[in-house]
Amino acid sequence: MRKRLIVSAAGALSLFLAVPASASDFQPGAAGVGDSYYPTYGNGGYRVSHYDIRLKYQPATDELEGTTTLLATATQDLSRFNLDFALNVSEVRVNGRPATFATSGEQELQITPARPLAKGSQATVVVRYKGVPSTVKKYGFTAWLRTPDGAVAAGEPESAWWWFPSNDHPSDKATFDVSVQVPDGNQVISNGILTGTSSQAGWTRYSWRENKPQATYLATLAVGKFDISTDTTPSGLPVYNAYSKDLGDNADAARASVERTGELVDWLSGIFGDYPFSSVGGYVPNVPTGFALETQTRVFYSPRQFAKGANTSVVVHELAHQWYGDSVSLSRWSDIWLNEGFARYAQFLWSEHENEGTAQELADYVYASHPADDPFWSVKPGDPGPDDQFAGAVYDRGAVAIQALRNAVGDEKFFRILKGWPSERRYGNATIPEFQAYAEKVSGQKLGGLFDTWLFTAAKPAVGPVPAGAPAAASLAPAAADRRDEQPPAEPKSWKKIQEANPPQGVRH
Ligand SMILES: [Zn+2]
Repeated sequence: MRKRLIVSAAGALSLFLAVPASASDFQPGAAGVGDSYYPTYGNGGYRVSHYDIRLKYQPATDELEGTTTLLATATQDLSRFNLDFALNVSEVRVNGRPATFATSGEQELQITPARPLAKGSQATVVVRYKGVPSTVKKYGFTAWLRTPDGAVAAGEPESAWWWFPSNDHPSDKATFDVSVQVPDGNQVISNGILTGTSSQAGWTRYSWRENKPQATYLATLAVGKFDISTDTTPSGLPVYNAYSKDLGDNADAARASVERTGELVDWLSGIFGDYPFSSVGGYVPNVPTGFALETQTRVFYSPRQFAKGANTSVVVHELAHQWYGDSVSLSRWSDIWLNEGFARYAQFLWSEHENEGTAQELADYVYASHPADDPFWSVKPGDPGPDDQFAGAVYDRGAVAIQALRNAVGDEKFFRILKGWPSERRYGNATIPEFQAYAEKVSGQKLGGLFDTWLFTAAKPAVGPVPAGAPAAASLAPAAADRRDEQPPAEPKSWKKIQEANPPQGVRH
């Protein structure tokens, strides 16, 4: 007894002696990744390379339970770190040892490992949890959408919190395995390739794999009863599309749009270069929402987007994001123009291809149809602020900015930039200044003035996106300029279909 006491005292002493050299180096990781728009989103102190998400879901009751395993690497000496998550956690293990955990804020899960994590070391983090995601509100909402026969996780920037714990910011991308058990007769849709299904005792497990880096908000999950269509594109890429069995009058228009995915991804490959992922497709669950989301390889569409008939423009928009947004992702949410400006511009190019209005005509139309005092011009597409992140101006003025770039550098260099950038930054992250530097390198032109005017000024540019050699509006006599304003160009034929790709304003998703 006495001997043991002496030994443990000696142990405590040596621990004490070791402490001063290192204790101050082991600090808690930050509760946010440092994004000015969403200060608590993502976390500091580590990066995730892989998520293994293993779930069981009961559509009748919306009960979800599961275990997610993260492979992480510490980027600082960590005494504690956070994940972003909303469901109830029952157990956390770090490198096999039970860890203590607590919740804080809206979606912070604080984890204190039994042994601190040294900078550069790898950690396996296992989180067990369960909940009824549709009932869990964060910031007053849930991104978990229930359908008559199941549920869907799709939302931007938030959707992960309701089904897997994560470092929830696009600057930390990882590969994903998603394996979900559901009652027989239901299907599970997720990203990438369906690697297998197995049935046992009334339950079927679907296993999906996305083998290329994926941002957490681009991970998606749908459970329900779907009609599945599989195919390969003309260039040999596997296509997997799914349609809820109860889409009613919208079913055929949805198919007439989404079944063209293979054709459209091949057409976009001609503009943006090789498609970056190993599968492609979309799914249309029976949700009441009105938006689509470029969930990686497997686009989420709302049936309402096909209520006025087929819309290939929406499909083009979401597929364009596979290059601009998914393969090349945002480093920070303020750079949303790198996603939405280019996806909208792809719709302009599709309109041009379909003889429903050229990109120039569409850009002229946007410029002319918003007078200088329209609040439209007060949104800076290059830094719109979190409340206007998905404002129409980010899309439309954002695309006009790209037409202005095209006019400034000429078609040959412009299309080299459009195709070169996704290859230069493939599977990575980027900022608008980095894109500008790339465009300057390819074009050999200084573009600071153009970017300032179109992306970073809260006012209508004095001159529209005029093609080289055309008279600029500002050079016309004031009376002539007024007349020009009185007679805006006619609405291009493609305009309404293009706008149907917009998220509903004022609806947070
Ligand atoms: Zn978009």
